[in-house]
Amino acid sequence: MNSKEISLVESLLNSPKHIVVVGHKNPDGDAIGSCLGLANFLRQKGHQVIVMMPNDFPKFLHWIPETDQITIYEQEVKKSEEIVKNADLIFTLDFNALNRTGDLAPVLAAATADFILIDHHQQPDDYAKVIYSDVTMCSTSQMVYHFIEALQGLEFMNSKIATQLYVGIMTDTGSFRFPATTATTHRVIAALIENGAKNSEIHQNIYDTNSPDRLKLLGVALNNLVMLPEFNTAYITLSQEELNDNNFKKGDTEGFVNYALSMQGVVFAIIFIENKKEDIVKMSLRSKGNFSVNEFSRSHYNGGGHTNAAGGRSLLTLSETVAEFISILPKYKEDLT
Ligand code: 5GP
Ligand code: MN
Repeated sequence: MNSKEISLVESLLNSPKHIVVVGHKNPDGDAIGSCLGLANFLRQKGHQVIVMMPNDFPKFLHWIPETDQITIYEQEVKKSEEIVKNADLIFTLDFNALNRTGDLAPVLAAATADFILIDHHQQPDDYAKVIYSDVTMCSTSQMVYHFIEALQGLEFMNSKIATQLYVGIMTDTGSFRFPATTATTHRVIAALIENGAKNSEIHQNIYDTNSPDRLKLLGVALNNLVMLPEFNTAYITLSQEELNDNNFKKGDTEGFVNYALSMQGVVFAIIFIENKKEDIVKMSLRSKGNFSVNEFSRSHYNGGGHTNAAGGRSLLTLSETVAEFISILPKYKEDLT
C-alpha cells in the first residue's frame, strides 16, 4: 500500500465500525487464515468484526483458532444478509472479483458499506475504495501481515493471529516451495513463529489428517492419471461415481493435482472433478515456469487465479470436457514445450 492508501485506511478505521471480513467460496487455508488474522487485529482496535464465508470449509481447517466464530452464508442466509446490510466497512480477502463469493455476491454488491480489497490474484475488479492488490505476494495472509505492519499494528500480534497467518502462508506456498516464496516471506514466517505460531504442530494439523477414504480416492486419482508427453502435460479425472465410492468429503481432493505436476518433465497439470450436484466439472490447474494457467482458465474454463495455480469449471460432461481439453492443447504446444 502507498502512503495515500494507508491514510485512507486509517481514516476508515479511526472510529469503531461494524466490519465484515469476507473470503471466497470454497475457502482454503489462505482465505480462512487471512480473514481470521485480520479480524482478530481489527477487534483489538475496537471494531465489531464478523468473518463471513460463502460456504463451509474443509475439516482439516477446523482446528484453526476462532474458526467457530465464522458465519457461513449458505447456512445462515437471512442473518448474513442483515450483517452485510448493516456493515460500515467490508474487507474482501483472497479473491479478485465479487462473483468468487457465489450466491453471496449479489448481497455484497447491494451493500452500502465501503470495501477494502486485500488480494494477490491477477486482474482485480474495481469495486473497492481501497485496493491493496499485489500479484507478487505468495499469499493474502502475508499481505495481512504487511497491512497490520503498515498500520503500525504489530504490537497487536498474538499467537492466534500468528497461527492463522502461518496457515495461510504455508498452504498457499506449498510449504514454502512455490516461486512466490521470498526472503521476506521467510522473515514474516520467522516473526510469526516468534509470536507463537507452532510451525511443526501446524504442519501436522494440516497435512497429517488423511482418512483411509481420502487415501483410497488418491489411489483412484493416480490410477486415472494420463501423461501427454508431447505437451509436457498430465491430467487426472475423478467422476462423481468414484468420489461417491470413496465417501468423498470436502477437501479430500486438495493437492491431488500436484502429483501430476510432480512428474518429471510435466509443466502443466490439471485435475477434472465431476460435480453432479452443481452439474459442472470443476478443475484445478497448475503449471511450472511461464505457462499461465490463469490465462488458460480465463480463456477456456470461466475461471482464473495465478500464473501457476488457477481454478475453473466446465458445463460439459466429464468425458466431453477431457476431449475438449485434448483438442485445444495443440494450440499451446509452443508455450508448453
Ligand atoms: P484451486 O485449484 O485450489 O481451487 O485454485 C487455485 C487458485 O486459483 C486459488 O488461488 C484460487 O483462489 C484461484 N481460483 C480458483 N478458481 C477460480 C476462479 O474461478 N476464478 C478466479 N479468478 N480464481 C480462481
Ligand atoms: Mn491465496
